[in-house]
Amino acid sequence: MVSKEEVEELMLKYFPKCPLCGASEGYEVSGVVKNYVQCRACGAKWWSNDFVKCKELKQLKLWEPAYDGTGAALKFKTFSVKFWQDKEAIEKAIADAEAKTKAVDSNKLIFRSEMSDEEIQDSIRKSMVEIASWDWGSTLYGQLGPLISDTSFAEATIIRLLRAIFEQNKILIMQNELIRRALTQNK
Ligand SMILES: [Zn+2]
Repeated sequence: MVSKEEVEELMLKYFPKCPLCGASEGYEVSGVVKNYVQCRACGAKWWSNDFVKCKELKQLKLWEPAYDGTGAALKFKTFSVKFWQDKEAIEKAIADAEAKTKAVDSNKLIFRSEMSDEEIQDSIRKSMVEIASWDWGSTLYGQLGPLISDTSFAEATIIRLLRAIFEQNKILIMQNELIRRALTQNK
């Protein structure tokens, strides 16, 4: 098995300076087969299968971002050595990944700060209509449900119930936002 010194030496050969923070303080080697290296300065940690043989380093997977969060957007992503040696490429990849997460996140939000009160009220109405359609219990089928011992039927009932609860929570969150807005306006 390779020694920790050999692994650190290989890493230093390709990366005398840390790909993320640029410090040249060397790397802490860890793992049962010594396939993790961690920058002594910023704490960023990489994993590579190439350390097992310790001959040539081809790619590195970012296992943990730096202590200050640098590189978090690239966590668990594997890139070539060439990429990790290219500071501009790394910065671009981080910016791209961050932009992507941001876009997804704001689409998933129940409400966004730029929404007007009317838009939120409209959303609340939509959720209430949703709840009415998921309110299985009040329908004839819903009342007959417990009499029919059918698994898929029971599953469908649970899904409807969960959907209704989810919509209910959305309404509460949106109503809270409207109340918060009203309160802060009065100040
Ligand atoms: Zn570092």
